[in-house]
Amino acid sequence: MIEIKNLKKSFGEVQVLKDINLTIDIGKIYGLVGRSGAGKSTLLRCINGLESYDEGTIIVDGIEVKSLNNQAAREFKKEIGMIFQQFSLLNRMTVYENIALPMKCWKYSKIQIDKKVKELVELVGIPDKLYSKPSELSGGQKQRVAIARALSMDPKILLCDEATSALDPQTAKAIISLINKINNELGITIVIVTHQMSVLRSSCENISILENGRIEESGFVEDIFLKQPQSLRNLIGDKDI
Ligand code: ATP
Ligand code: MG
Repeated sequence: MIEIKNLKKSFGEVQVLKDINLTIDIGKIYGLVGRSGAGKSTLLRCINGLESYDEGTIIVDGIEVKSLNNQAAREFKKEIGMIFQQFSLLNRMTVYENIALPMKCWKYSKIQIDKKVKELVELVGIPDKLYSKPSELSGGQKQRVAIARALSMDPKILLCDEATSALDPQTAKAIISLINKINNELGITIVIVTHQMSVLRSSCENISILENGRIEESGFVEDIFLKQPQSLRNLIGDKDI
């Protein structure tokens, strides 16, 4: 479970997260939406310890993120995988090497790495691309590599920051199906940040709408779409949604 209480975060004078309260249940897919600049990526980065926060608590599986010392923080980061809009692959490396990278850092044996990489490319559906470079892959295939890499340390949580925003609708749908499968088959808790309403409705049980650093609405996705609060109407009215 991820439990966020009274979370506040500023960059300089500007407060970008203003008293965030949120509970994300284990094993579920949770959706976060909001306009550009609302604070979605900052919130994800606070959850996985990439960003510090000023006030409040984030407790992941009973551990307060802020309290971690260096070694504990390193261990904690294994528990959380993350994928991004721009895939963030290393272009000079092959698919195999990209997926193997976290395991190499953690000094896994060659045999362990080989076994895991081959399992993962099967899981994400690109077993024939093991020795390709990212430049030889489509956007969807690149995101599959990024997902495989994010799963290499067997995380409990996968954070997806606009993971389908750079993809055409068909490919985005396929990636969302893969994310659903990962949730179903591996039981990984998933947090999806998206601008795509269809993604929320097809995958997420609960969602929150973030507006200007505050949670304006939280609840069952269908309840929120039924109720159509102003914060949701604001988003649907936006051109980039
Ligand atoms: P988008 O949908 O465009 O990705 P977002 O909801 O993810 O937006 P954030 O990236 O979390 O928004 O940014 C929230 C606010 O914090 C913005 O005003 C942004 O300019 C500011 N911000 C984010 N990172 C930093 C930083 N490292 N230094 C200063 N300001 C930052
Ligand atoms: Mg963002």
